[in-house]
Amino acid sequence: MRARTVHVVCVPDGCADEPLAELAGRTPLEVAFTPTLDRLAATGIVGRAAVIPEGLPAGSDVGNMAILGYDPRVHHTGRAPIEAAAMGIELGPDDIAFRCNLVTVDDDGTLIDFAGGHPPSGLAAQAVAALQAELGSVEVSFHAGVQYRHCMVAPAAWGGVRSVPPHDLIGRPLPPPSGPGAAEVAALVAASRPVLARFDAMEANQIWLWGQGRSPELPSLASRHGLSAGLVTAVDLVRGLGVLAGIEVHEVEGATGLVDTNWEGKRDIALQSLADGADLFVIHVEATDESGHAGDVAGKIEGLERWDRRILGPLVEGLDDLGRWRLLVVPDHATPCALRTHTPDPVPFLMARSRGDGPGGCFTEAAVGSCPPVAGHHLLPRLLHR
Ligand SMILES: [Zn+2]
Repeated sequence: MRARTVHVVCVPDGCADEPLAELAGRTPLEVAFTPTLDRLAATGIVGRAAVIPEGLPAGSDVGNMAILGYDPRVHHTGRAPIEAAAMGIELGPDDIAFRCNLVTVDDDGTLIDFAGGHPPSGLAAQAVAALQAELGSVEVSFHAGVQYRHCMVAPAAWGGVRSVPPHDLIGRPLPPPSGPGAAEVAALVAASRPVLARFDAMEANQIWLWGQGRSPELPSLASRHGLSAGLVTAVDLVRGLGVLAGIEVHEVEGATGLVDTNWEGKRDIALQSLADGADLFVIHVEATDESGHAGDVAGKIEGLERWDRRILGPLVEGLDDLGRWRLLVVPDHATPCALRTHTPDPVPFLMARSRGDGPGGCFTEAAVGSCPPVAGHHLLPRLLHR
């Protein structure tokens, strides 16, 4: 019998960056002390991956969908239905899901906070229950999520509505939705105000509906590649992709989405799951993306060093004990610290295997800058079959 090969995909969210003056023209990936990454790159394959196809938003939903091997141009229907899957909401064929933010606006409709002052989830759930009681119908239902992030299920006929993501509009008036379904969506947004006004303890005073779409059809990794797979993440979007792709989503205590996350816990659950028979495990860590959004260069470097010291080093030792392995490291997009937002540019990737017989290189933006980008969704098949 041929020995089993196990596979690990590591996603340091948003870790790719651009040269920074404060790092003397280098990037966090170049500056961070990452002996294990360096060693894997020296005996593996490095290159550049177009994880965000042209014309699609540079979001974690798109990038991670590509990393899981699905062409976002074919499969991406919106971010809200992925989050709905993470919340355990099943959409019917005539349903779409909207992201329903609890937001704070002033009297003339200027957006003050897209996160509605980060209400505690318990209080927010009461508010969402009130929205459901008063605005819910046969066609429309509200579902409580976490803090300001909730879901509304609506008829597919409203799918063409154009409604902007509120985090792009802080300090500006929220433009009314347009297109098919706009009147219905605007009416619900207006009707949410008197309902939320009763929740004195909450800063949020209105909903905002956006990011809608039908449930994407993602043929499972089992059906596509004959694989059983596991995943760990602190992020709803990535969890939702896992649910939709038939990947077992593991929960780790202390997975925060920040640099204080439970790095060892994520590593150990990956190794345990592979030892228990999984063929593939995806480790997603949000921390480097958060540092990018905060413009926190030192934090991003620290995140990369923790990846190396607390996940990759011991992970590779554990994989060696399991037998033959293959590893892919790739961010789902870049989040340059100077820009504090995502960019759609191709990102560096690294593939390594237990035999360590690749041509070698460096896992940095500059080192792969002249490589022709490969489509992001081709990486996983290449990892599995090369
Ligand atoms: Zn991301």
